[in-house]
Amino acid sequence: MPNIAATSPVPLTLDAVEALFNLPFSDLLFQAQQVHRRHFTANQIQISTLLNIKSGGCAENCGYCSQSAHYDTPLVRQGLLAVEEVVNAAKAAQAGGATRFCMGAAWRQPTANDMAVVVAMIKGVKALGMESCVTLGRLDAAQVSDLKAAGLDYYNHNIDTSRDYYDKVVTTRHFDERLATIALIQEAGIHVCSGGILGMGESRRDRAAMLLELATLDPQPQSVPINLLVKVPGTPLANAPDLDIFEFIRTIAVGIILPRSYVRLSAGRESLHDEAQALAFLAGANSIFYGDKLLTTANASSDHDRALFRRLDLQIEG
Ligand code: SF4
Repeated sequence: MPNIAATSPVPLTLDAVEALFNLPFSDLLFQAQQVHRRHFTANQIQISTLLNIKSGGCAENCGYCSQSAHYDTPLVRQGLLAVEEVVNAAKAAQAGGATRFCMGAAWRQPTANDMAVVVAMIKGVKALGMESCVTLGRLDAAQVSDLKAAGLDYYNHNIDTSRDYYDKVVTTRHFDERLATIALIQEAGIHVCSGGILGMGESRRDRAAMLLELATLDPQPQSVPINLLVKVPGTPLANAPDLDIFEFIRTIAVGIILPRSYVRLSAGRESLHDEAQALAFLAGANSIFYGDKLLTTANASSDHDRALFRRLDLQIEG
């Protein structure tokens, strides 16, 4: 197993990561692009497509989420989709260039019946020759083992923010419970996709602490989604102050403390101008969610994305 600290350009301490954040903006981006090119092919982007397989009614109270049953949001609830519908959506995503199909369900933890359906979905996606990813909430060891046996490639389980800020965002679960599910996934040999959300009122030190938490997982997550808060009416964070876009870009750049992880622009991308997305790619983001809808919020349109890739000479990986 590689020594994770040895691959980071700075020591994995909070002060050192914060010092990286504090570099002059151009120095930080220059360093980020250099580190990125040591580990990835330049100008390549991986695209994933995300489908919500069950929406709303979730028992957790994540303060940013339209799917929580605790808040009155505009979301229309939707029960678990049929396997055939999901596999057809995966085929369409594959035809559009996606190499990975991600399925998200709004559960605190899936039941045995839920698991049987999700396992069939994973097998259906794998039979197409695509990578599969699911996000289902917390899991026990037996459920992780079922997902592994189905051939699951990635499990998404975000840590959302820093340990210290976590209870400002969600109180129905604890930070360590997130880490416990991630540990089960890692032990089973399933790749971990874990990141967070920026713009929830957290400080720069919180953002540094969140990335540090991810960087000290062993192994580091293979995929790190960085979301920009989408302010959903009815949620506690509906009126959170805007995050300076350059702070968002800085956070992506500091992602070089996980130098081998794909950094994915996720929720909130539709609110980024093309210029901001170009800066994010320069800072080392090399993966996006592609498709017109991202779980329950709008996403940048596929046509617009393709045009942007052409303008920036980005090649789709895969
Ligand atoms: S983020 Fe996930 S766990 Fe939290 S309320 Fe939304 S669906 Fe539930």
